[in-house]
Amino acid sequence: MTKHVYSFGGDRNEGSASMRNLLGGKGCNLAEMASLNIPVPPGFTVTTDVCTLYNQAGKQLPTDVIEQIKEALKWLEGTRGKKLGDAANPLLVSVRSGARDSMPGMMDTVLNLGLNDQTVEGLAKASGNPRFAYDSYRRFIMMYSDVVMDVHKDHFEEKIEELKAKTGKKLDTEITAEEWKELCGEFKKIVKAKLGKDFPQDPWEQLLGAVCAVFNSWDTERAIIYRRMNRIPDEWGTAVNVQTMVFGNMGDDCGTGVAFTRDPGTGEPYFFGEYLINAQGEDVVAGIRTPQPITKYQAADSGLKSLEEAMPEVFKTLLDTCNRLEKHFKNMQDLEFTIEQRQLYMLQTRNGKRTALAGIRIAIDMVKEGLIDEQEALKRINPDDLTQLLAPIFDVKEKAAFKKAGKMMAKGLPAGPGAAAGIIALSAEEAEQLSAKGPVVLVRTETSPEDLAGMVAAQGILTARGGMTSHAAVVARGMGKPCVCGASNLVIDTVKRTVTAGDIVLKAGVDNISIDGSAGEIYAGKLSAFPSEVNQVLVDKSLDGSKSETYQRFATIMGWANKYRTMKVRTNADTPKDAGVAVAFGAEGVGLCRTEHMFFEGERILAVREMILSKDVEGRKTALAKVLPMQRKDFEGIFEAMNGMPVNIRLIDPPLHEFVPHDEKGQADMAKVLGVSVEEVKHRVEKLHEFNPMMGHRGCRLGITYPEIIRMQMRAIAEAAINVEKKGIKAHPEVMVPLVGHVKELAFTKAEMLAEVAAINKEQGANFSCPIGTMIEIPRAAITADQVATEADYFSFGTNDLTQMGFGFSRDDSGSFLPEYVSKKILEDDPFQSLDQQGIGELVKIAATKGRSVKPDLKLGVCGEHGGDPRSVKFFYKVGLNYVSCSPFRVPIAIVAAAQASLEAK
Ligand code: ADP
Ligand code: MG
Ligand code: MG
Repeated sequence: MTKHVYSFGGDRNEGSASMRNLLGGKGCNLAEMASLNIPVPPGFTVTTDVCTLYNQAGKQLPTDVIEQIKEALKWLEGTRGKKLGDAANPLLVSVRSGARDSMPGMMDTVLNLGLNDQTVEGLAKASGNPRFAYDSYRRFIMMYSDVVMDVHKDHFEEKIEELKAKTGKKLDTEITAEEWKELCGEFKKIVKAKLGKDFPQDPWEQLLGAVCAVFNSWDTERAIIYRRMNRIPDEWGTAVNVQTMVFGNMGDDCGTGVAFTRDPGTGEPYFFGEYLINAQGEDVVAGIRTPQPITKYQAADSGLKSLEEAMPEVFKTLLDTCNRLEKHFKNMQDLEFTIEQRQLYMLQTRNGKRTALAGIRIAIDMVKEGLIDEQEALKRINPDDLTQLLAPIFDVKEKAAFKKAGKMMAKGLPAGPGAAAGIIALSAEEAEQLSAKGPVVLVRTETSPEDLAGMVAAQGILTARGGMTSHAAVVARGMGKPCVCGASNLVIDTVKRTVTAGDIVLKAGVDNISIDGSAGEIYAGKLSAFPSEVNQVLVDKSLDGSKSETYQRFATIMGWANKYRTMKVRTNADTPKDAGVAVAFGAEGVGLCRTEHMFFEGERILAVREMILSKDVEGRKTALAKVLPMQRKDFEGIFEAMNGMPVNIRLIDPPLHEFVPHDEKGQADMAKVLGVSVEEVKHRVEKLHEFNPMMGHRGCRLGITYPEIIRMQMRAIAEAAINVEKKGIKAHPEVMVPLVGHVKELAFTKAEMLAEVAAINKEQGANFSCPIGTMIEIPRAAITADQVATEADYFSFGTNDLTQMGFGFSRDDSGSFLPEYVSKKILEDDPFQSLDQQGIGELVKIAATKGRSVKPDLKLGVCGEHGGDPRSVKFFYKVGLNYVSCSPFRVPIAIVAAAQASLEAK
């Protein structure tokens, strides 16, 4: 018989942290904490496998699972000395979701299960606290109805608001036992009215209902969106945890809270958290009451009373427990706890989500503290996070000017660092709509999981309520978005569609708002962004590196990564400026220098057009002679910027019609240059039209029809190299031929190139030479790579075209169907963003293997967009590529991904 249910806590602790896949993150860590003798209310976990069985059985719990739940419940009742549904002394439980990877707030939980009209009286008597009993009952009816029976909690909230308005009360905690009791009655009426049946009174029926509802919550839309974003497979499923309730809502010696062992926003090594007196778990995260800080340090001069002051003993136990857990898991922990009559219980621990900045800082600090080593620290960094270190911040001077002009609207909590400015959107849908036109800031009283899509669309998130651990804060940090929370001075009027602070009134959909998620500041209007400190040090050189902690952390990570990686990282850059930025970020050469970009600049396009529109070789040669000095100068610039590092230059690639004028004025200008009629120019332009230009007259095909073009390019490169060498600067050009499908295309082109080089060497008495390679971007070239390699000094995989041609997907047109491919799970990812390893990757593998079968030390690189995608980078490492190349701002990401690839292979 398969074991489907595992107990934790009490005298039967069957799980451990190593059983995460089966028990889910929450379940396995509850068992782990229990085995460390940390007070955890006992309970049991129904495994993630059951989620799959349940779905396969058409949303039915298998009978043997039900039997095992019954057995575990009996054990639980035994250890507690209470029975589910016992009118005198009822056992109450929570029913909690818990996936392998935590999905905070994405799935459902039901608290206080086991209450009904009889047991609530029993609870009131046993506790001597009817207010607590009825508060628990109303919570249970609300949650159960919302989660299990699909009666939205707003219907109940409305009743509470009515009661508050009637009695003039502000807080839930002021509502009396009698009032809650009355509300319970009304709540049940709502259920009856909505569903035509009574609220279930049988605790066993309640339990099975809640278990099924948690399994169902795996497939809610928000959970699905979250999984997509975080690449969590749908097949994993969630576990269900049934756990004895402990009560934070029994009075002023009770409470509930969440804590982080380090600051999840900045990574500062300070214990950090929030709590509420006389409340139950959900209250803290829901942002309904603004919670209080846990430590005195955090409370600072806020006027709020910290837990450290309110309950010093409990605080000490909490701090010790949290420190122990951080040491045990060797990672920053995010914890949930409840205090029942000054007794502390731990309800959850997990590796805390953190911002990129915090993640990097924590990894470095933990190495310094001896908790983990460099390699472990490197493995923990999400390479994509480095983009946040390079993300813009607000201009400090402009911010000061805004402040002076009275445009600072309010201050809130710095919940997610970074700067965002955009038009105000008051709802998730509005954010989605407006974001099509430009940057948007989502402004809400508080966010809930339903707002997820809007949060994805927005540049930044601003809420009037909620703390550092509110939904908005946690989700924003996870997404790396700037976020300011709990800006209680803001008045958000969804009817008038305004956001007001003092006498500043902003209109939603019209006005801009700017938020500084690092400082928690909110400004009316649009502030401009400024380069990050890392950029200021490395690129602008306007900041001294020793004065920037952010930069130093960046440098530490890059230092470690460079130590452990073997694969090189180059950049795709066409200008000395871009190449310079990339080198500052750690690039070791140019992996792709596109020559055609150089054609468009300034006056030169006229000469290029003249060349293309010429009728004969002579005309083309005259025009090319004008282009030559310009190209030569460009190459000199890049060689100087790269100062001896390799520069891989691609010969002209795009179809010629991309260069010619399609407008009247342009055509008239060309007519003058060529000395022919406008009609004639029009005619020549039309002749270049192709039905399928991406598969038309482009790449090496151009050089085969017009060898004089590649001759000119080869000359520009060789002469530039000779010229800079004369200045004492080393130049290492590599020249590659694009779009080769047949070895003879390469052989022909190469012969032309070599002939030109020979001519130059003779003219100048020089002995210039450089590697001549080919791009592998046509499937035919990949599968005949052993032939192609005989003519090539190196391969560079053009994975954009290889994907385009391998799939037969036009890169420019795939937007109309690829998103559906992903949502219908035909493809896991957009193959233009992350390499399709099984198909296109196989072509890369074949070409690498066949190429090296002829030339064992054939150099291999990649220059498609995939060179900056961490998962693709790891694949390229496995295939044995020598380097990847990506855009300058992705260089640090590729460097860390390359290091991780080496470490993972160990
Ligand atoms: P989520 O995964 O959304 O955080 P949880 O299952 O952790 O959901 O539960 C939500 C809240 O309910 C948490 O704050 C948790 O502390 C509280 N809670 C869950 N189980 C219990 C329990 N047995 N006793 C008291 N509070 C609980
Ligand atoms: Mg939780
Ligand atoms: Mg290409």
